[in-house]
Amino acid sequence: RAGMKKELPEKFRSYKHVWVFVELERGKVHPVSWELMGEGRKLADKLGVDLAGVVLGPKSDETRQAIKETYHYGADVCYICEDPALADYRNEPYTRALTDLVNTHQPEIMLLGATTLGRDLAGSVATTLKTGLTADSTELDVDDEKSLAATRPTFGGTLLCTIHTLNFRPQMATVRPRVMAMPEPDRSRSGRMVWHSLKMDEADIVTKVLEYVADATTDDANLAYADIVVAGGMGLRVPENFRLVTRLADVLGGEYGCSRPVVQKGWLPADRQIGQTGNTIRPRLYIAAGISGAIQHRVGVEGADLIVAINTDPAAKIFEFAHMGVVADALTVLPALADAFERR
Ligand code: FAD
Repeated sequence: RAGMKKELPEKFRSYKHVWVFVELERGKVHPVSWELMGEGRKLADKLGVDLAGVVLGPKSDETRQAIKETYHYGADVCYICEDPALADYRNEPYTRALTDLVNTHQPEIMLLGATTLGRDLAGSVATTLKTGLTADSTELDVDDEKSLAATRPTFGGTLLCTIHTLNFRPQMATVRPRVMAMPEPDRSRSGRMVWHSLKMDEADIVTKVLEYVADATTDDANLAYADIVVAGGMGLRVPENFRLVTRLADVLGGEYGCSRPVVQKGWLPADRQIGQTGNTIRPRLYIAAGISGAIQHRVGVEGADLIVAINTDPAAKIFEFAHMGVVADALTVLPALADAFERR
């Protein structure tokens, strides 16, 4: 902030309203879009402007459904660009469509999910528009100058910094799935539609989608949206002991996860990692076994309704934020819990 001009340049003064990019991939809306819609509503209300959803996709029933739901989750307006070139996500046509929409309708804030697609798109859109982007924000607000104040962890998660994009528009931010709460949809809501047409010639697009191949290194875990998560850390000592974690997760009908060193050792795949550089989770129940509770792990689990920690060290940091704690050997407690729940 220091040394920056406080006056917004003339060319940006007409920029108004809050936009949320609705991530539609292969016919499905990523739920982070609705989480952002809830957050966007708060920002729009504070600024006294409209909240808009941006839907890009092919002409299809799924695209129409995404438009409807955009209103249900709080949008007043929906900007839509339907084109066959937008059927599968590719950076070039998506960047072109979104930058064109921004240049035409001039939003002051634009939010995207920090998903694989959202990160790719947000970076290239911000670069093309020559504006600021705060990636992986954990808190969004409006400051006294009515600018976006986006907070994110820095220095390896040991500090939080708040970033203000004072001189550029739109002010862009990405937010990871599950960092913001999911709003309740109101199925009676509808809103305005603004159609945007683009002449996209397939011959000008360098990238072609030939086929989709499942990633064999992951098992498509949906950890971020699971209701119950059981995770293990280095306290479990050897990879074989993770059977105890997966068994309890199975018995409870939940998912299993782990701390970062477990992934670094190659004991579990990267999509099982929980924390700042892994998944953010918001389950009803989170059981952490043999996890010390480092800040980088804590930021990924703080949204859980009930945190239960099992650790042999009563001074472990995890007991500072767990709701319930068991000071005991996880290798004994995990199978005992699984047996007890299995009997019920
Ligand atoms: P340890 O810190 O080694 O803790 C093991 C715990 O197990 C101890 O508390 C010990 O008392 C307990 N224990 C030992 N034996 C038993 C037993 N038999 N039963 C029960 N308890 C036992 N970490 C993440 O998890 N996620 C991230 O996303 C992440 N991102 C990071 C990003 C950066 C930039 C950096 C610098 C670090 C990141 N880390 C992350 C690493 C983090 O700082 C910690 O090092 C890590 O979380 C520690 O993992 P752990 O708790 O499994 O292991």
